[in-house]
Amino acid sequence: MSGSCTELRPATPPAPLIDPFGRPITYVRVSVTDRCDFRCVYCMAEDMTFLPKSDLLTLEELDRLCGMFIALGTRKLRITGGEPLVRRNIMNLFKSVSRHLESGDLDELTLTTNGSQLATYAEELAACGVRRVNVSLDTRQRDKFRAITRRGELDKVMAGIDAAQRAGLHVKINMVALKGVNEAEIVPMIVWAHGRGMDLTLIEVMPLGAVGAERIDQYLPLDKVRADIARHFRLRDLDVRTGGPARYSEVEETGGRLGFITPLTHNFCESCNRIRVTCTGTLYMCLGQNASVDLRAPLRAAANDELLEAAIEAAIARKPKGHDFVIDRAHARPALQRYMSVTGG
Ligand code: SAM
Ligand code: SF4
Repeated sequence: MSGSCTELRPATPPAPLIDPFGRPITYVRVSVTDRCDFRCVYCMAEDMTFLPKSDLLTLEELDRLCGMFIALGTRKLRITGGEPLVRRNIMNLFKSVSRHLESGDLDELTLTTNGSQLATYAEELAACGVRRVNVSLDTRQRDKFRAITRRGELDKVMAGIDAAQRAGLHVKINMVALKGVNEAEIVPMIVWAHGRGMDLTLIEVMPLGAVGAERIDQYLPLDKVRADIARHFRLRDLDVRTGGPARYSEVEETGGRLGFITPLTHNFCESCNRIRVTCTGTLYMCLGQNASVDLRAPLRAAANDELLEAAIEAAIARKPKGHDFVIDRAHARPALQRYMSVTGG
């Protein structure tokens, strides 16, 4: 892998792949590990069996895969997990992929993290051209944080957020809305996040994986949350489209941005621009469907990229139209067996 981290230069972008529904695929999320130092109650079971390390793509293979996606028109890469910052030597991947920012072939390299290791890596990430980071934080109460994450330490995450902001990274907080758990903290979280210049996005819990809890007991529909927030603040809808399931509003009193990710109450699959690759090289064309294509075999079959390119093109040609999650008493089982930590959200 090459390892430079310098300034960005524009270039003519490669044309993106277009799926059967006319959607350009310009955004890839790459999960670099299924492991995590937390066990969030909505994401994982208490006892998880993780993949043998020998099944994982090497960092060099992940780098090659990222390069292939970029050559096929990907403009944005999000590194995720599991917890991406617990993967050994992960900074080598960021350093190497940053060359595509320099060449202008990639607009954005970013990550989603639980923040536990961010104090260690914030400066290095910024030096690699990372400008924005999503940090997951469902509560600012120490004991509740421990209960939700089953093993996380709030102080480390707070130190990570401080370090990220000091390094000049724009931080967006992701908060999963959990019925009866953090409902009362949503308004204070808006005040805190916006007061620190951070956007906040609220997420509806999705029925992925057997986590050992009833989804119906966790699920808090965001239309209800929005109505509660509207009793405290004036919300002005923003015409910001990211090609994802989030819709954004400005909170007039704080001037900050509030996102709503509502895969259950409203899905926005018609504008979906993204695909997801797991740490073993399985490409999922939709977060809410099982349709997948193995990229590890073509990646390993030849040193040139012909097979890999053909496999990616064939996968995009099979991207499903969308998903249809339901959480109610009649749908008690997970919609999909795979945990969110496999694809990284
Ligand atoms: N470990 C990192 C983190 O927590 O930010 C990255 C991976 S995590 C799977 C990505 C995002 O998915 C986090 O914001 C997390 O809160 C969210 N998430 C995990 N399981 C979820 C579920 N079942 N429903 C909705 N969001 C979920
Ligand atoms: Fe780990 Fe992120 Fe899943 Fe929590 S949400 S268990 S931090 S992968």
